[in-house]
Amino acid sequence: MARIDWNLRSRARACMKCARPFAEKETVRSGVVPFESPLVAELFAEKLAEEAAAAAAGQPVKAHPEYVRLDFCEDCRKALPDPGWISVWKGPYVPPETAPEDPLRKATPETLLRSLLEGDDPAAHAAPIYLLAVMLERKRILVERALRNAPDGTLVHIYEHRRSGDILLIADPRLSDAEIPGVQEEIERLLGLRPAAAPAADGAAIPGPAAPPDADGAPPPPPSPSALP
Ligand SMILES: [Zn+2]
Repeated sequence: MARIDWNLRSRARACMKCARPFAEKETVRSGVVPFESPLVAELFAEKLAEEAAAAAAGQPVKAHPEYVRLDFCEDCRKALPDPGWISVWKGPYVPPETAPEDPLRKATPETLLRSLLEGDDPAAHAAPIYLLAVMLERKRILVERALRNAPDGTLVHIYEHRRSGDILLIADPRLSDAEIPGVQEEIERLLGLRPAAAPAADGAAIPGPAAPPDADGAPPPPPSPSALP
């Protein structure tokens, strides 16, 4: 049996109620609801039943996402009772890009953010993830759709990627001003703009193939986190 994919954070290609594919530039009404919303149970009844059958058969079942992105055509949205929206918005439908991603493409703040979020332990990278999201919001690549308090008290920013429509949930690590420069350095290291490790602080540094000799003099300037508060 095919594995059931609960990645429900991307923009749908068709209305989730009437299943009609969206036309380019058609107004799409979108929103984010908790997975527990009765509307989610209704819209994904078939998928949930499949999953229940798989679980009953002893197959591993993927964890549900905490939030679900829903997309509807205007008519369906009008007829919909309020499912407990966390955030709603509307915008013209943009078909997904068809060009394959270049695997050799250089790391950018955007690709780095994605790889940290999709990595094994996003919680361990909460600070760079948050700061990268703030950078991308300032560049208008991400737009904040909602701010949410998780049950454990964590503040969660719900961002939408303007072009792809993907929803990103970013925990706010509540960085102090004093912590930001260190996080910026970590981001520069992860982007390959800095050597991987700092030398030992006590002067007993082991001579080794640390930083390569500087051919041109000055190192390249860091990316734009200087625009941060
Ligand atoms: Zn519809």
